[in-house]
Amino acid sequence: MVGVEAARAQESFSFTVKTRLDGGRAGRTGVIDTPHGQIATPAFVPVGTKATVKAVLPETMREHGAQALLANAYHLYLQPGPDIVDEAGGLGRFMNWPGPTFTDSGGFQVMSLGVGFKKVLAMEAVGVANDDVIAKGKERLATVDDDGVTFRSHLDGSKHRFTPEVSMGIQHQLGADIMFAFDELTTLLNTRGYQEKSLRRTHEWAQRCIDEHERLTAARSHRPYQALFAVIQGAQYEDLRRKACRDLEAIRGAEGGEFDGYGIGGALEKHNLGAIVGWCCQELPEHKPRHMLGISEPEDMFAAIENGADTFDCVNPSRVARNAAIYREDGRFNINTSRFRRDFTPIDDECDCYTCGHYTRAYIHHLFKAKEMLAATLCTIHNERFTIRMVDRIRDSIDGGYFDAFKEESLAKWRGGR
Ligand SMILES: [Zn+2]
Repeated sequence: MVGVEAARAQESFSFTVKTRLDGGRAGRTGVIDTPHGQIATPAFVPVGTKATVKAVLPETMREHGAQALLANAYHLYLQPGPDIVDEAGGLGRFMNWPGPTFTDSGGFQVMSLGVGFKKVLAMEAVGVANDDVIAKGKERLATVDDDGVTFRSHLDGSKHRFTPEVSMGIQHQLGADIMFAFDELTTLLNTRGYQEKSLRRTHEWAQRCIDEHERLTAARSHRPYQALFAVIQGAQYEDLRRKACRDLEAIRGAEGGEFDGYGIGGALEKHNLGAIVGWCCQELPEHKPRHMLGISEPEDMFAAIENGADTFDCVNPSRVARNAAIYREDGRFNINTSRFRRDFTPIDDECDCYTCGHYTRAYIHHLFKAKEMLAATLCTIHNERFTIRMVDRIRDSIDGGYFDAFKEESLAKWRGGR
């Protein structure tokens, strides 16, 4: 970006590294500055899919330490429509959230939800490489070509098309502080050949995204600057992940602009998550933030943070809360089982959340049995607070120089409780 635009971008979005992990590791703490405030990193970013963290007030999320929220471009595009969010003054104002916001590109949803995630599209590796990953008896509802993705809405079956330019247009209208370039989602079942082809496509789309982003930034100069992160794919292949990082960092827009940060996405398995993040962060520049898409379990967060990831989002803390699953330091348990009928203690006596300060297991158990809405609210507050606090404590442990001891103690507790 040149002249006025570049100045605007520099003024309103930046990342500063504070403390680095020792031993040559890429993990660090830092601060992301956005037009809507700061994010101390590492930070967990709760997901408000449709511009709401289901069942919880934004004020409550704030009180429980949420620094930023992430909404989904695909969902808000279908309902209510990005023009309405734009008219409201952007995502934060629309949903009464004064802090920083993220939107994803919609790529993940059009390629997974569009075909019925985990029902139609197999995401888990079963040892067979196969590019036609549609399950038997299911219809393919999304088709990818070099220009974009055509898909059917999961709401009403209507046909839509996302291209890099469409995704940028939607995300600029949604107005989040941090948004992501449109990428192709692959699965672990795809062949190596397909991963290579897909990576080239994601690279071409990244170039189109940054060009369109520059154009829209200039055209919408009345709005605060929105940072654009590229998304790194490459599945489990070290050479592909490293190449993707180098190639994306080399991209420049027509006006000379570059990506403000990176998202690490795509197919990966628990056991190699740390290694994949490590490969990427060794290639990526120090001074740009790295977001890890879709993780929330303590083991995954420790691995990702140690290897250089700065922010994370995941829908799981609220999704499982609505099914009565409670996170604790010693693992997960279900409050719906009958042994809690007469248990008048908090769900987690080491937690500082509103739910644990005011309600008992017996009461929350009763709410689930009675199918009361408050059950979801109380459990979501707890699980979101648990996850936010876990990452906050990891951040403190890096700044305080006791990360390794804290990791060992936390993971022993987490695994021991299972
Ligand atoms: Zn709690």
